[in-house]
Order: sequence, then C-alpha cells, then structure tokens
Amino acid sequence: MSDDLRMTEAELMQLAVDFLTAQGLERGHATSMASVLCAAQRDGSLSHGLQRLPGTRDTIGHPAFQKAPQLRVEQVTPAVLKVDADYGFAVHATMSALPQLIASAKALGIAFMAVRNGFHSTALWPVVEALAEAGLVGLSMNPTHDWVVPAGGTKPVLGTNPMAFAWPRPGQPPYVFDFATTAAARADIAMARNEGRAIPEGWGLDPEGQPTTDPAAVLAGAMLPFGGHKGSALATMIELMAGPMIGGLTSAASARFDEGHKAAPCHAELVIAIDPKLLSDPSDEAAAEAMLGAISGQGARLPGARRHGLRDVHQRDGIPLRHALYEQILAGI
Ligand code: NDP
Repeated sequence: MSDDLRMTEAELMQLAVDFLTAQGLERGHATSMASVLCAAQRDGSLSHGLQRLPGTRDTIGHPAFQKAPQLRVEQVTPAVLKVDADYGFAVHATMSALPQLIASAKALGIAFMAVRNGFHSTALWPVVEALAEAGLVGLSMNPTHDWVVPAGGTKPVLGTNPMAFAWPRPGQPPYVFDFATTAAARADIAMARNEGRAIPEGWGLDPEGQPTTDPAAVLAGAMLPFGGHKGSALATMIELMAGPMIGGLTSAASARFDEGHKAAPCHAELVIAIDPKLLSDPSDEAAAEAMLGAISGQGARLPGARRHGLRDVHQRDGIPLRHALYEQILAGI
C-alpha cells in the first residue's frame, strides 16, 4: 500500500505556509517560499519539494537571516534591475520583482535582474517558466557552496551551480531545463551513503583528491562537474555571472559566510529575460517548433515534459506527499 497522502494544491500551500509562519516568517515571505516548494511537489520535482521544509529551520537559524525582510528594488538602468533580498529567502525577492523584469523585457526586448543577499534560490525552473508563460525566453543561474573541484584539479572551488532555461511555445507548456552543473546531485550522493551503496566513478574525489566510488569520501572531499572541462567551464561562467558580475558572493565566499550553521547558500541569482520576437518573425517560431518536434518526434524526451505531465496527473488526482514527511511537517507547526 502506498505511504502517500493525496492533497490539493490549496491544502499543500496551507501546510507549507503554516510551517513557515510557525518558524516566525512574515506571511508574504512564507507564501513566496511555500509557493515554489509546493509547485515542485506538485510537479514531482521532489528534490526541491516539501522535503525541504524541515531543513529550512537551519537556514532560518543563521544569524543573518531576516524573517521579515525589507526588499529593496532598484531600477539601475531601464534594462537592469537590482534587488536586495535583505537576507530572507531569495525566491521571495525574485518572485516579488519578476513583474517588473517582465515589463522591462517587453518594453526593451531584453532585461536582466540581479537578486542579491538571499538564502537559497531553490529550484530555478519556477522563475524561468513564469517568464516563458509571459512570452519571454528565460535564463537563470546561481552559485552555491564550493563543493566542486574544477576539471583537472583537486581542490573545491566551484559550486553545484544550477542553470535553468525556458522557451515559450505556442499552445503548449514551454521547453524548460533546469539542472546543477555537477555529475550528480549532492542529495543523491548522500542517499547512496545512507543506503551503503557505492557511487559511479566520475562523481567525486576523496579528501586527498583521488577518484573514489565511496559516497562518504566524496561528501568529505569534493564533487566533480558533469562533462569534464565543459561542465567545469559552465560552472565557472555561473560563478562569474551570478557572483562578481552582479555583486554576489562566489561559492567559496558563500560557504565562508555560512560559518558552520549548515544554512542553505546565501547567494545572488541572475535572471535574464529576452523577448523572442526582438529579431525574429513568425517563420522563426515555426522553425523553433519544427526543431523541438524533431527531438520529441523520435521518442527523445524534452526536458520539462515529465514534470508537465505529472502536473496534469497530480492536479487531477491529488498531489502525493509521504505520510512520514507530513507528520514531520505537522510536528513543526
Ligand atoms: P537533474 O539532473 O535531475 O536534471 C533535471 C533536468 O533535466 C530537468 O529539466 C529534467 O526534466 C531534465 N531531464 C532529466 N532526465 C531527462 C531525460 N532523460 N531526457 C530529457 N530531459 C531530462 O537535475 P539536478 O539534480 O541537477 O537539479 C535538480 C534541481 O535542483 C533543479 O531544479 C535545480 O535548480 C535545483 N538546484 C538548485 C540549487 C540552488 O542553489 N538553487 C543547487 C543545485 C540544484 P523534467 O523536470 O521534466 O524531469
């Protein structure tokens, strides 16, 4: 028998908001964070679903964390928006300022937003998907903590540095991908350690910088980027563009800022919005559709398709939530 409860989106939101307000978060702040975690749970994007709620207490416990952040939004130029998250959850600042970014991109063809001083951008797809739903191309990225060695190196410098991209499509959900630039997620390595399983070669190095299949050694040592020098370069680009370029911390600086509190990364997030009609005409939209159709038409799945499919099923049948997790969340309210 399944150990899952089935909940509506409204019930899930109520649960998450109740948990976060019970930790002292101001209601709007709690609602922003709850909405992205619930969207992830709804879409079967479980690494960033409600299982993240209990751990938010570590982040909320960081001495710099603000439960009622005072967001500061500055239109630096017509195309550039600077948002200070005031040491609350980053998604609160990002989602709050998104309408202003959308308006700028629609007026100018391209705009970007730098969200600084926020804890944990969570999954990035809700931001870029919201841009695509507004008819824009979206790109987002952030550094994390320096758990990752550069290809060819032995010492961690880079973060797990995720990047998300969304492309609007006529009459159907957007094309969206969203993943970290590491060979495997840190949570997957921790799961292998907990289950006493070895991990594949290429996921990480031990504390002496030697390749290993022991997950505990990787967690004590360092993770590896995906795709060798290519993933390493992408992660480096993200360090630069969502770090120093926009006045944010590098992954190494963010890890130092944590000072052992085990909070989620305090980092900046770069969000770029582009109007796809800026330089194109209607035939270009058809060309984009033909290209995407040539991928899905041969049975290769498009990223985002699994999630959008699950969304439909869960909106119809209810959103699964593990009973044990439900009890754990209730205990924190
Ligand atoms: P995955 O390696 O699981 O990759 C997920 C992406 O790849 C999704 O877009 C997924 O689409 C797509 N995908 C997966 N399998 C296939 C396939 N066979 N064919 C085509 N597309 C596929 O992601 P990660 O574990 O690296 O990251 C998970 C989440 O963690 C992301 O949301 C990321 O933003 C988040 N994260 C956030 C961090 C932060 O600091 N903010 C740090 C690190 C990660 P679909 O969704 O449809 O399955």
